[in-house]
Amino acid sequence: METKGPFKRRQLVFTLKDRCRVCFTCVRECPVKAIRIINGQAEVMHQRCIGCGSCVKVCSQEAKVYVQTIDEVVQLLKGPDKVAAMIAPSFPAEFIDIPDYKVFVGMIRQLGFDYVNEVSFGADMVAREYSRVLGDHTSEPCISSDCPAVVYFVEHYHPDIVGSLAKIASPMVAMNRIVRKKYGNDIKTVFIGPCIAKKAESEEVDEVITFTELRAMFALNGIVPDKIEPTDFDPPHGGKGGIFPVSRGLLQTTNVNEGICDGLVIIAGGRWKVREAVKEFEDGDLGPQHLEALCCEGCIMGPGMSKEGKRYIRRKQIGNFVSQKLHDLNKDQWKKDVREFSTLDFSQSFEALDRRLASPSTDLIEKALNKMGKGSEKDHLNCGACGYETCIEHAIAIAEGLAETEMCLPYTIESLHNTISALHVSNESLESAQQALRQSEKLANMGQLSAGIAHELNNPLGVITMYSNILLDELPTEDPMRSDLELISEQANRCKKIVGGLLNFARKNQVSLSETDMLAFVKRSLDSIIHPKNIEIVFNHKVTDPTAFVDNDQMMQALTNLEKNAVEAMPEGGRLSVELSDNETEIIIRISDSGTGIAPEHMEKIFTPFFTTKELGKGTGLGLPLVYGIVKMHRGKIDVVSNADKSKGRTGTTFSIILPRYKSV
Ligand code: ADP
Ligand code: MG
Repeated sequence: METKGPFKRRQLVFTLKDRCRVCFTCVRECPVKAIRIINGQAEVMHQRCIGCGSCVKVCSQEAKVYVQTIDEVVQLLKGPDKVAAMIAPSFPAEFIDIPDYKVFVGMIRQLGFDYVNEVSFGADMVAREYSRVLGDHTSEPCISSDCPAVVYFVEHYHPDIVGSLAKIASPMVAMNRIVRKKYGNDIKTVFIGPCIAKKAESEEVDEVITFTELRAMFALNGIVPDKIEPTDFDPPHGGKGGIFPVSRGLLQTTNVNEGICDGLVIIAGGRWKVREAVKEFEDGDLGPQHLEALCCEGCIMGPGMSKEGKRYIRRKQIGNFVSQKLHDLNKDQWKKDVREFSTLDFSQSFEALDRRLASPSTDLIEKALNKMGKGSEKDHLNCGACGYETCIEHAIAIAEGLAETEMCLPYTIESLHNTISALHVSNESLESAQQALRQSEKLANMGQLSAGIAHELNNPLGVITMYSNILLDELPTEDPMRSDLELISEQANRCKKIVGGLLNFARKNQVSLSETDMLAFVKRSLDSIIHPKNIEIVFNHKVTDPTAFVDNDQMMQALTNLEKNAVEAMPEGGRLSVELSDNETEIIIRISDSGTGIAPEHMEKIFTPFFTTKELGKGTGLGLPLVYGIVKMHRGKIDVVSNADKSKGRTGTTFSIILPRYKSV
């Protein structure tokens, strides 16, 4: 069997990972920060848990579960030894649906328990011990030790005041000792109550199940109140101790005063108040007062009770039950029982088990804050969405390894926004890459097609030109057919020009690079341009190293094509300016004109073969596709910026070619 003593306490609460929706409610509700978020999952840290069950109560997804021990109890019931059920005094608050408690006792016997005892008698005995301590004005102030979650809390998080825990056994342990005295040491004991923490409280008790588990056992065995023969609890019967499980119950049982002026005892019910009160107790702020602390605002609100119960109805049930009990109680017998068992030892010792974490360095905390974009105090929204009260507490938990940055809602929202923008950008560049790909494919197809056509047309065109020229030579000057022949020759020449362009275009599928002084090269390209006088040509350069590796023939063609286009775009004159610059790896050539500009709706089409806006006979629409092909063959880039709208400022176009130097090749 597993050891359950204070030195090796069993894990009480677990997370069902597939149910956890990571809402951080459990982080917020855990009074000792025993839940860490790791890889986006909430995990209970066994060593830090005090078994208060707050997380079990608040988890709407039922992702927090406590250790189930029904099987162990079934094994005990099947075993050779007699088994006693010890029922916590809070049972009337849970089993409201069974109005006669004797039927409830009968149902437990039906499960196979040999004895059914009431822990309220243990509470009576424990109350006597407390009366003694609280009544003795010379005794040091103490913290009640009947709630195991409070005991673990002090042992783990206030180890220096473990000595202040009342050295008195809990009603469960007291009753266990009474039962063993009565039935002998071979008896097996099962405590049935509202508490998860009890499952790890004492090695003296064989098993602990909750009321919820008891209900499950009834259901599994088909035990319903209807057919049950009512029987009473086995003696000794409890008295006033039945009031123990409501907050202030201990005081009422002991008849000790808690008045504000002359009070001996401070009451703290509920995990947050307990946390505060124990701290103040340790700081010595409570003076000589004792502290009665119950983690659940009374055991009647324990995590082992049904979830839907109402506090004040439960409280009333306990009150009704106890007053009826006291009315029916055989007081003489009770006194006799008390006398009989008062010789037992009801003491309990506790040990400090420090589980406090060393405070992380300010450096680490600041790092965590900065990562969440909380560099300055105004960024500390303290919204609590992460489960921690302040951003600083969250940062400390991150530095302690208990929390993650992503738990911060504002940070996560901002990261999402950034991700969306980044996606937007990559989407855009994907779009333009796709467009470029489509363009290249189109050009490749065009290339093949034009190579075929050009090849087939070139020879017949040569024949037409040659024969029309021969005929022209032979015809007398005044012959009327001359003008027709001249037209044939002119048009045939035009066809040859187009075919020449197509051939050029098709041939550009490989480059032969040679080391070139780009400064001289670009200058030379300008020299070959025929331009009217009203066009001014300007050449600027700002190069550190003019050397680049280019295919001279092809690059010359590309540059002159761009320059020709620029000139043609300035029918009324203007300025063609060419600019050369460089960086370590690239040469940049910018060809700008102050011409008409390219209309936005044409921008997409200018690199498409045969697209031209020039009048018939002037343009072939093959210049820019050729340039594009050549630049791509050099693994370069070509960009165009243009304005065709006078209302938006000066019109004109700039083509930029960015070429890698290719020096390393
Ligand atoms: P073409 O010059 O034979 O028309 P191109 O492929 O060289 O064919 O150019 C395609 C079209 O792009 C031109 O008809 C013109 O509309 C536009 N274009 C090219 N360069 C310029 C420029 N510098 N300014 C204005 N439009 C231009
Ligand atoms: Mg052109």
